[in-house]
Amino acid sequence: MTRSIHERAQELIALAGAEDLPEGQQTWLRAHLQECVACCDYEEAAGRVVRALRSQPLAADSALVRATQMRVRTRSLELRQQRERTWLVCASCLFVGLSAAITTPLLWRTFEWMGAWAGVSSSVWQLGFAFFWIVPALVVSALLLARGTHLTHDEEKQWR
Ligand SMILES: [Zn+2]
Repeated sequence: MTRSIHERAQELIALAGAEDLPEGQQTWLRAHLQECVACCDYEEAAGRVVRALRSQPLAADSALVRATQMRVRTRSLELRQQRERTWLVCASCLFVGLSAAITTPLLWRTFEWMGAWAGVSSSVWQLGFAFFWIVPALVVSALLLARGTHLTHDEEKQWR
């Protein structure tokens, strides 16, 4: 008889975790818990399990939200770096183009003057001009290319 009272109490405790008990059963359970240490311990343990179960979906949700936020932030950082690199390349091209537009006529005049001063034919100083003009452009191109490859390698290392 005594054993079945405790079983009944623990059954009610389990039910109480899932749904609201009728008033009479609640009163009976409270009265039993006040005089029975074993069932009181059981009730406490059951309460902990129920609370843990209830908090579980919330914890999973916030972890998912955090992971998603992290992914979004990483992607936007990636896009910003990409934009900055594109801007850098455009600025370099513009700078090279502008400086070429400014220096080419000056360089042409200088070579023309030097050719006249040295008394060589125009084809000689024009060849010299072409060589002098093309070599730095080739060097700059090679440097930009090397820098671009360097950046790409860095990025690959970073994401590996
Ligand atoms: Zn009991």
